[in-house]
Amino acid sequence: MTLTIGVDVGGTKVAAGVVDDHGRIIEKLRRPTPSTSPHETAAVIAEVVDILKGKFDEVEAVGLGAAGFVDESRSMVLFAPNLAWRDEPLKKKVESQVGLPVIVENDANATAWGEAKFGAGRGEDHIVLITLGTGIGGGLIMDGELYRGRFGIGGEFGHFRVVPDGRRCGCGNRGCWEQYASGNALVAEARELARVSPALAGRLLELGDGSPEGISGPEITEAARGGDTAALECFRSVAVWVGQGMADLAAILDPGAFIIGGGLSEAGDLLLDPARAAFENALTGRGHRVFADIRMAELGPDAGIVGAADLARLR
Ligand SMILES: [Zn+2]
Repeated sequence: MTLTIGVDVGGTKVAAGVVDDHGRIIEKLRRPTPSTSPHETAAVIAEVVDILKGKFDEVEAVGLGAAGFVDESRSMVLFAPNLAWRDEPLKKKVESQVGLPVIVENDANATAWGEAKFGAGRGEDHIVLITLGTGIGGGLIMDGELYRGRFGIGGEFGHFRVVPDGRRCGCGNRGCWEQYASGNALVAEARELARVSPALAGRLLELGDGSPEGISGPEITEAARGGDTAALECFRSVAVWVGQGMADLAAILDPGAFIIGGGLSEAGDLLLDPARAAFENALTGRGHRVFADIRMAELGPDAGIVGAADLARLR
């Protein structure tokens, strides 16, 4: 049995785990990300790897799943919206500190690989992974292989434009899909509703301490689970965007399965049922084609660790 370490490096935390060749995490560790300093971020990654490898001599390699654009040689983070990385030689930095081979992968790609091999995608070779959180993360498995594109940054479909001149996006454009179909979009929807129709949004306001700004994702889910009409309407409106976006992706990629993960997916069928309906409704050639499966992710927040570790094993 070989062991590898997977590290999920996000905007707020560095989560690492020792993973065996069945995708099982044997030991885990996490630290806050010093997100303003690339140098300190690399040092924290090296620190968690050192601690874990100190406990398991068999560790052979390290896979880093990084929240940013990773180059095609899987060594450099070109740009990260939520971290201070700009053309950051992460592989070289971490390798020199830990003395093990290191690969760097985009975090959503690592997650997609983890789910495809050990989670909801087992047995399916054509997968589109969509993580619905603050924004939208994407990963593509085509013919059983991770699809990275020519320059390493493929699958960023949170930023395809669904509304010309629409809402501003952190990427610099307007009208990106993630502005309408993410966890943040759900919260924006609920706050707007509470502002313009406070009477209708009574339950949401109550859960949000009386002000629209107090409403966040878990409150909307709680209200929707309790049957609150306003919360269900917010879910429905975001789910329609999710479903229509999947239909557009199916027109291009024709996957066998969509796997939905991220914070918003914890709402389960509240989200998936209307999303599935909107998907089937918007699909081109519907009635004359097989509908792709739409599945919940299975590995939760660990998928990135498991995927990065396995990619390091296959390096
Ligand atoms: Zn964008």
